[in-house]
Amino acid sequence: MKQTDYLIVGAGIVGCTAAYFLTERGKKVTVVDKGYPCNEASGVNAGGIELLQQPPKSLPYHKEAAELWDKFQNQDGIDVGYHRTGGIYAILLEEDLHMLDEQEERFRANGLPVKRLDRETIREMVPGVADDVIAANFSPISAYANPLKAGRNVLEAAKKKGACFMDHQPVSKIERAADGNGYDVFTADDVIRAEKVLVACGIRSPKLLDPLGVHIEFAEQHNMITVTEKAPPFLNYTFTTPTLTMKQTAEGSILIGGGREGYGDIKTGVKDVSINNLCFNVREAQAILPSIKKLNILRSWSGFEGFTPDRLPWMGEVENYPGVYYAVTGFCGFALGPAVGMRACKMMTGEA
Ligand SMILES: Cc1cc2nc3c(=O)[nH]c(=O)nc-3n(C[C@H](O)[C@H](O)[C@H](O)COP(=O)(O)OP(=O)(O)OC[C@H]3O[C@@H](n4cnc5c(N)ncnc54)[C@H](O)[C@@H]3O)c2cc1C
Repeated sequence: MKQTDYLIVGAGIVGCTAAYFLTERGKKVTVVDKGYPCNEASGVNAGGIELLQQPPKSLPYHKEAAELWDKFQNQDGIDVGYHRTGGIYAILLEEDLHMLDEQEERFRANGLPVKRLDRETIREMVPGVADDVIAANFSPISAYANPLKAGRNVLEAAKKKGACFMDHQPVSKIERAADGNGYDVFTADDVIRAEKVLVACGIRSPKLLDPLGVHIEFAEQHNMITVTEKAPPFLNYTFTTPTLTMKQTAEGSILIGGGREGYGDIKTGVKDVSINNLCFNVREAQAILPSIKKLNILRSWSGFEGFTPDRLPWMGEVENYPGVYYAVTGFCGFALGPAVGMRACKMMTGEA
């Protein structure tokens, strides 16, 4: 039997960042995953760190997360592919103008900078954008990171600080230790004894939490992303509309996300793109940015994401199992991941 003080189940963005923050505090941490780090949503998402049009109550977390993303990249020397480009949230219909008003109010209430852009300014910032775009908000803190390296590199940094990682170890159950000292966590190959356990299994968390009496009702989503070939830089900001998101990566590809879903079933793990919905999303993206018509599509994929009923992160200590904690994101969880990881770390150390 292996022993650790802090055991994290799930090496997505939440688990990897929680592990890093715990090791920063000198804690003895082990992370286990049923696969390799960020093999699910945290490794296949669009990388958007978007503060615009988030559920109002999540804004304080987004603010905290934006600072942590910046800290990883610019202070701690961890390459998470973070680029603070600023983000545009554009509307196409007069009747959506109230969304911009409400958003500006929310941003001000949270001490976040935001600007209103008129048609002309949008055209100066994004040359070639369609005439249908009538107004927008601009958030200078919006950004993107690279999901292919973010969580993995944060986990590597945690390992350098002493964390241990075990891959391909699906956890089947968490039980109170017979001698009353912590918990026994059953993996494929072993039993790990831990003083404190964090369940950070994303949409798969209910499998471990339901038997402990905590139920999170996730709405299963099958988000889809489409990537074009590389182009010279022409989209300098993340660009969001009420229906889709677009950004140009540091390498030059345009990433189209949001919009209509792919399909899948979390029970079987099967997921795929929907060609009809892919065409719909690409047509919509072309209507907003006609110049992308010239670019070939290289790849498209889908992934599982779980929305909580209030679209907010759910975190806590399991009532009847003190020392067992959970932390899941509810919407835009990549952006929020470091803030949720930080809260999880502080719950476990008793700081909050
Ligand atoms: C296609 C797509 C695009 C997206 N785009 C964005 C975006 O642009 N911006 C944004 O903010 N969010 C985006 N999201 C959402 C975001 O990716 C997720 O909300 C976030 O990554 C969730 O992180 P997590 O750490 O909670 O969970 P996950 O990334 O799901 O990680 C959970 C980990 O737990 C492991 N695990 C599960 N069960 C067990 C078990 N029993 N034993 C051991 N390990 C287990 C899994 O293998 C996995 O590695 C997108 C999602 C998808 C699918």
